[in-house]
Amino acid sequence: MTTILNGKLYADIIIEQLKTKVEKEQKKPKLAVILVGNNPASEIYVRNKQKKAQYIGFESVVITLENNISEENLLEQIYILNEDTNINAILVQLPLPQHIQTKKITEAIDPIKDVDGFTSYNFGRLILGYKPYSIPCTPKGIIKLLKYYNIDMAGKNTVVIGRSNIVGKPVSILLEQENATVTVAHSHTNNLKDLTLHADILISAIGKAKFITSEFIKNNSVIIDVGINRTENGLCGDVDYENVYKKAAFITPVPGGIGPMTIAMLMENTFELFKLQQNYLVL
Ligand code: NAD
Repeated sequence: MTTILNGKLYADIIIEQLKTKVEKEQKKPKLAVILVGNNPASEIYVRNKQKKAQYIGFESVVITLENNISEENLLEQIYILNEDTNINAILVQLPLPQHIQTKKITEAIDPIKDVDGFTSYNFGRLILGYKPYSIPCTPKGIIKLLKYYNIDMAGKNTVVIGRSNIVGKPVSILLEQENATVTVAHSHTNNLKDLTLHADILISAIGKAKFITSEFIKNNSVIIDVGINRTENGLCGDVDYENVYKKAAFITPVPGGIGPMTIAMLMENTFELFKLQQNYLVL
């Protein structure tokens, strides 16, 4: 019997718990999202994040900027948000236009407002095993979902496909901190199948529709599909779900798996930053 890892269900529980917590707060957490340009996928993501924030009772603001904004002016926007004591969390929706250096922009965010955990301060602390202000949302959501379903990571052969700063790299660090034995594969990896066939837990963050078929996976393994791919037939993951389903013990669907968990973690991170700033907690 295959168990579907229902990220939507667990994310809804987390959202309701946050809503209850926010109701008890006099002042409300405030999330600022910067959206540059008019990438249709980014517009949808930002709209969904804002809707969820409002549902929970957060205050939120979306700052929409022209595609041709200069790096300097974008930095200026971030400095304003850093200084604004009413703003608890800042998110810059990625990808940014090519003329802007993403690392310069994410680095400009005050680490205590860095809701994505992408600044070198927070990312560095994550790697060192110190508590960062925020942990990147998608990786945090993956670990939470595995724990929710009581999937033990300790000692497991875990293969992460993808090494981006957003997903692959941070999730491999978190898995290692859960005592998994982690292998990171990427576009230069030879014989990917030889690795994945030994994976008790396989995490795919590639961005290639239905790339992972049943020939890649070990019997009774755990399959986490992070990919979001837009095809003629709608959204799908990196995993060929129908083809893989029966061979896996646990599998995340797309949509309804890691996507909702990512948004829930964004909300959780916003609330946590709000509490940190309120309590002047020192790490
Ligand atoms: P990215 O393009 O930055 O990274 C892709 C990674 O895949 C790279 O490290 C690359 O080396 C690797 N790769 C590419 N082709 C490969 C191949 N043939 N074999 C092995 N490795 C290969 O992408 P990203 O930002 O990490 O996102 C990955 C996917 O996850 C995308 O589909 C993205 O939309 C999705 N995503 C989903 C969520 C969510 O909330 N569910 C969040 C972030 C990203």
